[in-house]
Amino acid sequence: MMNNKTANIEKVIYFDMDGTVASLYEQPNWLETIRAEKPIFENLPPMPNLDMEYLNRQLIQLQKRGWTISVITWTPMDCTDEYHEFTANEKSKWLDKYMPCVQEFNPLRYGQSKNIPVNPEALNIIFDDNKDVRNDWKGIAFDIHEIHLDLDKLLHLPL
Ligand SMILES: [Mg+2]
Repeated sequence: MMNNKTANIEKVIYFDMDGTVASLYEQPNWLETIRAEKPIFENLPPMPNLDMEYLNRQLIQLQKRGWTISVITWTPMDCTDEYHEFTANEKSKWLDKYMPCVQEFNPLRYGQSKNIPVNPEALNIIFDDNKDVRNDWKGIAFDIHEIHLDLDKLLHLPL
């Protein structure tokens, strides 16, 4: 007999990509490359502070505990519609390679509120390197400094 009222609450962990899981800003000429609307996102390395095998194992454990794993990422500022589509596709391929357990992918135009694709009734966690995004987030926001440790804490929450 189920008497745990939290059991049916939707629980979602959202990840930003650039500067959170994908190492964009460490790449030489990243801004020029983006301004020229050239490929870059598909071949980015993961962030150096992350162990992607361990991250995926953590995410699979969280999924077993009922969490949905999602991504919300912005495409480049002021880019053309073509580059928006192109970079969204590059980012999707990056996730297939490095975070294959991700269940939802939400590419947004640069600067759009990341609350837009989110169910406000759910328990929504975001990991994002951007302080403005974290401040705008209508849920619980984590920075990027202790992602593995923070995920471990989420895994052991009595939810
Ligand atoms: Mg970012």
